Amino acid sequence: MKKILVLPGDGIGPEIVAEAVKVLSWVRDQGLAIEWEEGLVGGAAYDETGSPLPEETLEQAKAADAVLLGAVGGPKWEPLDISVRPEKGLLGLRSGLNLFANLRPAILYPQLAEASTLKPEVVSGLDIMIVRELTGGIYFGQPRGVRTLENGEREGFNTLVYSESEIERIGRVAFETARRRNGRLCSVDKANVLECTELWREVMTVLAANYPDVELSHMYVDNAAMQLVRAPRQFDVIVTTNMFGDILSDEAAMLTGSIGMLPSASLNEKGQGMYEPIHGSAPDIAGKGLANPLATILSVAMMLRHSLEAPKLAGRIEQAVGRVLDQGLRTPDIMQAGAKEVGTAEMGDAVLAALLDN
Ligand code: NAD
Repeated sequence: MKKILVLPGDGIGPEIVAEAVKVLSWVRDQGLAIEWEEGLVGGAAYDETGSPLPEETLEQAKAADAVLLGAVGGPKWEPLDISVRPEKGLLGLRSGLNLFANLRPAILYPQLAEASTLKPEVVSGLDIMIVRELTGGIYFGQPRGVRTLENGEREGFNTLVYSESEIERIGRVAFETARRRNGRLCSVDKANVLECTELWREVMTVLAANYPDVELSHMYVDNAAMQLVRAPRQFDVIVTTNMFGDILSDEAAMLTGSIGMLPSASLNEKGQGMYEPIHGSAPDIAGKGLANPLATILSVAMMLRHSLEAPKLAGRIEQAVGRVLDQGLRTPDIMQAGAKEVGTAEMGDAVLAALLDN
């Protein structure tokens, strides 16, 4: 029996997660042995326990095969001290589970090609997977801080550091991912300026010998940022450091123009994963039944593929989402002329109907 921890969180989190849970019920009805329980995280957890990540939630997460998260945060908790802000709950889960590999797909559904700010001929058919290192690099490197120099001027400093084993383990995830897709991996670095990423490039190149079926290329990060808007379809899988991945994955997501459509996965060495939409808690539309639940539903598909060894069921969910878009159903964020506007629950029900119909 595989265990899933469901963490609705704040804002639109509970609304979109409720639709994803409908899909989980369908998965169970297909005969996959799964069970799930709900837990508290973020502002909702703070309100009830005084902590955005109660000890119990972390224990539940560690004991689960996968975590499905809605979103955390909102204006209500912004005045709080940073140590207990909702976002700390997310960071605590990432570090507590050692989720070092962040997988962020940027897919443009052909039905939504008009939603991108780029020309449809540049982005239609876009399907990129960005593999970002999530627990190392400059965001965690020591020493760090702000110090006062002898002349009284202050100086801020951070450290970009990666060990060979850290590079190798994210590299393996990326090569395996490329192998399951179109077999092309682009490693993004700044090896012309940063020694740390010179090592990154070297380790990736050595690792490539184990994956003769994957074609490895290298690109400097500034060029990658340009190529993503110039000719994004040249990419299949991109692997990069924590900070470069932070920036490039948001850039790639925006190419699709539909923040409500994109899922993500964060994995550890044991294959445990946390799955969540890339968007936040959207306080501006929370409680109104307007949120797009598709990113969360597609997060369930990623969970089936990466943590629950059920890629066929994952494919069926992705196809069902495609069929619902073909039917012309749209939540307000992806609304187009001539389409039918639906709310959160109606969209979830339509996906379920498409699953049952197949
Ligand atoms: P956001 O992603 O919540 O919202 C940005 C815009 O996109 C808003 O206009 C919102 O209405 C819209 N949007 C987002 N998801 C949508 C969906 N599923 N359907 C329809 N429209 C959607 O980003 P923000 O406004 O910068 O942040 C709001 C809160 O969320 C903040 O407290 C922030 O810290 C938090 N946040 C959480 C996460 C997370 O939980 N992983 C990520 C980002 C931001």
